[in-house]
Amino acid sequence: MTLETTEAIASGSQVYTWEPPDRVIAARYGVDVADILRFDLNTSPTAPDFFEAELRERFDPPINEYPDSTYAGLTEAAAAYVGVRFDEILVGCGADEVLDLIAKAFLPPGGAAIVPIPTYSMYGVLTGQRGAKLQAVPRLGADGRFALDLEAMLAAAPAADVVWLCAPNNPTGASESRDAMVAVLEACAVAPGGGPAVVVDEAYIEFDPGSMVELREEFERLIVIRTVSKAFALPGLRVGYAVSARPTIERLERFRPPGSISTVSASVAEAALRSPQYAIDNARRISEERGRFVERLGALGIEAHPSVTNFVLCRFGDQATSEDATEHVLRAGIVPRTFGPANPLRGHLRFTVRTPAQNDRLLGVLADWLDGRIA
Ligand code: PMP
Repeated sequence: MTLETTEAIASGSQVYTWEPPDRVIAARYGVDVADILRFDLNTSPTAPDFFEAELRERFDPPINEYPDSTYAGLTEAAAAYVGVRFDEILVGCGADEVLDLIAKAFLPPGGAAIVPIPTYSMYGVLTGQRGAKLQAVPRLGADGRFALDLEAMLAAAPAADVVWLCAPNNPTGASESRDAMVAVLEACAVAPGGGPAVVVDEAYIEFDPGSMVELREEFERLIVIRTVSKAFALPGLRVGYAVSARPTIERLERFRPPGSISTVSASVAEAALRSPQYAIDNARRISEERGRFVERLGALGIEAHPSVTNFVLCRFGDQATSEDATEHVLRAGIVPRTFGPANPLRGHLRFTVRTPAQNDRLLGVLADWLDGRIA
């Protein structure tokens, strides 16, 4: 690729940013940093109990050496947790790095990627960064539970280089139909040249079990993505992984840098994956709380779309109304996930499910906002 091309790609790309960090919100809204509660990033409210003990016990001190560039311990733990072979796993610095490696390995400049919108924003960002064409295939609306438009997917997917699927889907919180995903895989598998890489991002799978991994032998270009950031409650570690058939993992390995996961992160994530009970319990606890949270939102008159994840997408009305609610909750130190006016989810906010007490704080602030609107 020429320099001109990469410059053109960079100038046409957007920086993918999150809602502002705590210190910025504290300064802007005059709240104490200690009082800020983040409902924007789909994380867990607390870290696993063993976390600190693990750190003290195990880091004496491998940090004066580079990590094992094959991440043997971490890879073995991920393989055992998922129930696949060691060489069917590729670990990375968060699921986001693994998604980036897929874009590098499968998406040439001028190629095409299918993105069923609304979905995780990173797929579109990575597609743009490769100088590839983003083919948005709108999902059915809220009444259709944001399901894939299967006819449109089957028409477009086989000719693409990458198909980005997310199951369950972020930011809608809806599960993805297994039959629809299998239909897409079947259509892609018979495309010329082996067909596109079909990514099934299972970042939230522990909240709604039913993985696609067992189909990796039947569909060689199926790439399942996992992370320790969600049910395992360890987003600060930055550890994710891909599960796929050996030829696909081998292709991804060619793009992986040798040391992008720190020794500390690799060791703690390995320990977490070897004791998955924490993640199972955490997912159950959060899912139970989600039921109560959604009910209370409903009692306030705030409609939450059905969710199988640790976050809920709420319809506030038009964009001005959701922006008004955002300003109100931010002034109380509560950070929602917002959607801009050009986003298909304008007028919505997404809230992570936190502890009952923390969710009650959000509900109280939303009740104040609603009172203010009626007054
Ligand atoms: N995939 C999805 C669907 C996500 O929602 C996220 C994080 N919000 C990621 C991947 C990135 O996960 P990680 O923290 O492992 O980079």
